[in-house]
Amino acid sequence: MEKILNYIAGNLVEPSHSAYLDNYEPGRGKVYSWVPDSDEHDVEMAFSAAKKAFSAWKNMPLEQRCAILQRLADKIGENKAALALAEAKDNGKPVSLALQVDIPRAESNMRFFATAALHWSSESHIMENEAINYTHRKPIGVVGCISPWNLPLYLFTWKIAPALAAGNCVIAKPSELTPMTAFLLSKLAIEAGLPAGVLNILHGLGPKVGDAIVKHPGIKAISFTGGTATGAYIASTVAPMFKKVSLELGGKNANLIFADADFNEMLSHTLRSSFANQGQICLCGSRILVESSIYDQFKEAFVAKVAAMQLGDPLVESTKMGALVSEAHMNKVLGYIELAKSEGGRVLCGGHRVQMEGELANGYYVAPTVIEGLGPHCRTNMEEIFGPVVTLQKFDNEEEAIELANTGSYGLSATIWTSQLQRAHRVASELHTGIVWVNCWLLRDLRTPFGGVKSSGVGREGGWEAMRFFTEPQNVCIKL
Ligand code: NDP
Repeated sequence: MEKILNYIAGNLVEPSHSAYLDNYEPGRGKVYSWVPDSDEHDVEMAFSAAKKAFSAWKNMPLEQRCAILQRLADKIGENKAALALAEAKDNGKPVSLALQVDIPRAESNMRFFATAALHWSSESHIMENEAINYTHRKPIGVVGCISPWNLPLYLFTWKIAPALAAGNCVIAKPSELTPMTAFLLSKLAIEAGLPAGVLNILHGLGPKVGDAIVKHPGIKAISFTGGTATGAYIASTVAPMFKKVSLELGGKNANLIFADADFNEMLSHTLRSSFANQGQICLCGSRILVESSIYDQFKEAFVAKVAAMQLGDPLVESTKMGALVSEAHMNKVLGYIELAKSEGGRVLCGGHRVQMEGELANGYYVAPTVIEGLGPHCRTNMEEIFGPVVTLQKFDNEEEAIELANTGSYGLSATIWTSQLQRAHRVASELHTGIVWVNCWLLRDLRTPFGGVKSSGVGREGGWEAMRFFTEPQNVCIKL
């Protein structure tokens, strides 16, 4: 059985206590590799390596630093097929999705920030006849990056690329549920010639090695993507330590469909925004709000398409919908479907585990599920399910649509379907979310701010701001 290893000081190493956890293949429901069960000793080793590497990395000429990170981006691109297959096996997502979205976007993350570093500049401000100020944005030092299991390599690189490009050394932890692509990335980092200690990747449990990263006094910034409860715990832990923290957390996103939308375009995108990656994307639109005049038409067309969706082996290229990430997560999703029924919801399609055949028989498959008849304030419509479950609600006018969309504690993203330009602007400006898509979904420009408001997070931006998070600004004021 393959053993995943930690990446510390440029080497692939066993965890300090040689303890390992089982790593499951969700599509088949069986253990296929072992992942290090790292602890605070591993964090200490990674920290020493990172601290030692920091001075040379931050002082390296930008062109050289950029060339190394570009080589790492190239390596991701060259190994696209192998990485996509590894991600499908580790996560249960269809290999085609990993090939089209996750891995190319991981490569783009690395390339975007590698080249951004070349254009990095500092501001200066002149106080007429009195003084000149310049702002030196210094890398922080050793920073921690912790990422979830749903888009493993994509979100992992989204954190580490700006940190490295800004001149920091990184200690990163992927989810222990999906460690394989981060392990492959450590091999690619060695091949790309990343200096030892600049990037360290530790595998293991969140409350153990993740917590040790968060609490380490020498790690001065934490960039975290994951659940809101974990984010709240991390925020409260690092606040008295005065660490910088960026939190990209959960969502319960609304998909607002107005009667004037291009129906066919909206329908095909809504299928995707509801069920891509089995609904396990923080940006999925899990609350579908439909204008009353087209509610029945939408319901009939949508449910027919959802009921026809086939689940299949994540490793087969034609598969469009695979398995959920773990047995525990599958049970959580099934529990929410039962909750929806007890709250008065009517299951229009799906609503159950799918028993696959042959070697997929033990996999964690749940039928795509559509539920109607629930009010906006019930738990099903307020809590993040993070699976292939969507609810339908009706609205009569714009005000009602906005009120429904803004209900609840999350504020990550929303999607608007309308052919009226003014309405799109009007509604978008009233939505309390970090991201709004109009007549599209999941388009991503790395220069734009990314992240949520309310319980969906704080402190995360795109483009330059993503790099700035990983710096400490120092103003130098010179008397004229
Ligand atoms: P978790 O919060 O459970 O875990 C996220 C990461 O944090 C994992 O690596 C986890 O390790 C680690 N972790 C858990 N507990 C601690 C701790 N006490 N200290 C430090 N690290 C810890 O989230 P999930 O992995 O379940 O991911 C799903 C969530 O992520 C959803 O809520 C989703 O909406 C959100 N998400 C948000 C995105 C955004 O951009 N806003 C993007 C993608 C997902 P381990 O796996 O070992 O527990």
